[in-house]
Amino acid sequence: MTVEAKFYRDTWAEINLDHISYNVSETLRLLPENTKLFAVVKANAYGHGDVQVAKAAVEAGAQGLAVAFLDEALSVKRAGLSVPLLVLGASSPQAAKMAADRQISLTVFQKDWLLEAEKHLEEGQLLRVHIKCDTGMGRLGVKTPEELNELAAFIHRSPKFFLEGVFTHFATADDLSTDYFEEQYGLFASMVDSLEEKPPFTHCANSAATLRFGKTHLNAVRLGISMYGLSPSEEIKQELPFPLKQSFSLRTRIVHVKKLKKGEKISYGATYETSEEEWIATLPIGYADGWLRKLQGQIVLAGGKRVPIVGRVCMDQCMIRLPEEMPVGTEVTLIGKQGEEEITMDDIARKMETINYEVPCIITARVPRIYKRNGEIVEIVNPLSE
Ligand SMILES: *Cc1c(COP(=O)(O)O)cnc(C)c1O
Repeated sequence: MTVEAKFYRDTWAEINLDHISYNVSETLRLLPENTKLFAVVKANAYGHGDVQVAKAAVEAGAQGLAVAFLDEALSVKRAGLSVPLLVLGASSPQAAKMAADRQISLTVFQKDWLLEAEKHLEEGQLLRVHIKCDTGMGRLGVKTPEELNELAAFIHRSPKFFLEGVFTHFATADDLSTDYFEEQYGLFASMVDSLEEKPPFTHCANSAATLRFGKTHLNAVRLGISMYGLSPSEEIKQELPFPLKQSFSLRTRIVHVKKLKKGEKISYGATYETSEEEWIATLPIGYADGWLRKLQGQIVLAGGKRVPIVGRVCMDQCMIRLPEEMPVGTEVTLIGKQGEEEITMDDIARKMETINYEVPCIITARVPRIYKRNGEIVEIVNPLSE
């Protein structure tokens, strides 16, 4: 497959599917045999590509998929996989029919919602639902065993719903201090305990809980960030049960190189001034690609060397200072490995004063995604060319 057939600008993200597979299979080794792994592929698989990651995860042994919204579930369905697919966020009652049609499971937590959705479901249609419990995240869910049982009873009575799961979500599973996590876990355990009839899936673990607390595995876990090879937080890095492999790299190529005299200015605002004769190169990537202005000063890799971004990041371009002349076309790694050097997602997150989750999510669709297996390109996705 040739890259030229799919895009012309020399900026792309590389997704290593072998690393997704590795992170999934290493996680499966931690789980009891009857615990299913749901791969969380919301937000276009955290910017990595929903269909490609879903396929890789299921091939590696994931037995379920989860997304945030029904629209995302419909997109993931294009992968043609037959594993359970759960929408974690709230859906409108009107969406119930489409979800039932496509055998997509929805999250529910209000009786009014069920009453309304029932009207939109046709005779003979069956919608699978998971009840969300709010044990301390304060986002979605029923808050007491009574509410949980009332909803469960309603679902059991209705011929149009099937109670497939009960779940909750932790707010602090990635904190070193575990008090609040234990509180949430205890509340969830007592809520599930209060149910006379247990659904097929009870689940609570995100990546952090899956990797750290075996007791949260229950019969399903929802693996997001660590499937992409990223640690749920900086502070639990030293506790990870196996070394995660980052899947996402971001690369570009130098499009222009020039030698500037001392005292020349670079980019908008003329905030950078050369302090001596300097080699300055231009890269075709900017904030419209998600390479934000906050990244002024960030180190990137050019010709195997660590070099800084100088001057303000523009919408479509930015400049770097080279230690010596390098040819136009030199590959530059913004995130990922080059030779012996590496810029991690965490390095970029730190510079952007955010968490690693946010970084690949905001690399925009203008940046083509190249998928690799065994070092070979297996697919290229570029929405601009479709
Ligand atoms: C996003 C999400 C997950 C995955 O969390 P990670 O920290 O990325 O593993 C799990 N459950 C719910 C409800 C989520 O919204």
